[in-house]
Amino acid sequence: MNYKLTIGWLYPQLMSTYGDRGNMLVLQKRCEWRGIKTTVTQIDQATKIQDLSSIDLLFGGGAQDREQEIVMKDLCKKKQTIKALIENDIPALFVCGAPQLMGKYYEPAEGKRIEGLGIFDIISKHPGPKQDRLIGNVVAKIQTNNLVPITYNLSPITSIVGFENHGGRTYLGKTAKPFAKVVKGFGNNGVDGTEGVVYKNAIGSYLHGPLLPKNPQIADWLITKALEVKYKKQIELKPLDDLLEEKAKQAIANRLGVRV
Ligand code: GLN
Repeated sequence: MNYKLTIGWLYPQLMSTYGDRGNMLVLQKRCEWRGIKTTVTQIDQATKIQDLSSIDLLFGGGAQDREQEIVMKDLCKKKQTIKALIENDIPALFVCGAPQLMGKYYEPAEGKRIEGLGIFDIISKHPGPKQDRLIGNVVAKIQTNNLVPITYNLSPITSIVGFENHGGRTYLGKTAKPFAKVVKGFGNNGVDGTEGVVYKNAIGSYLHGPLLPKNPQIADWLITKALEVKYKKQIELKPLDDLLEEKAKQAIANRLGVRV
């Protein structure tokens, strides 16, 4: 069967800090290496609502407060459609600034509160420009039971590594489930030990890194999920040689003195 996926990339010009484009490249390459065709739909101010309906997998990267404000003005016009994609089990990865916008609201370092799409039951607040940003390499343990089980089994992965750089602090609401628990680093707020958030098949995370090159199992989870939702059948991806990716992950873990 010739599988095809359309990957939606939220505001690539405005939301692509700290190498987040690498996450897109990983998704595309890991599909290509398995003969899965991909098309990328860049979502921005010029995108029409009807262009969003064909999206099988959604990605949004980080941004600074100023860009987030610009993005949100446009994103709220696409609110119902994007919410519907997530409600219809379309898998998504939102990194750093993106999950702040997918939550209930984000209060930037300066200026007015930005209302989010309300996909995740989270709020995010920046304590102000004089407060330290939360920066550095991270090791965290995925909370696999919070991810909807699929054929692709995430259980062999216990840890993920990445890099975070955010001023905003995110707090989980009562119904929110964390994506991971911090082993080294700050995570959502530097206090409660949670990292990221999961709702249905959407993952929010503060880990740039970029996240997917060093944690390809997450990419495969997203791809499998996208194919299973689109083709309504069990999908088993062909395994790839991830030796280099594993070495990259180990290098970060070693630097932090953590066993993964
Ligand atoms: N503007 C957000 C913050 O500083 C997100 C930053 C980012 O995406 N790296 O909290």
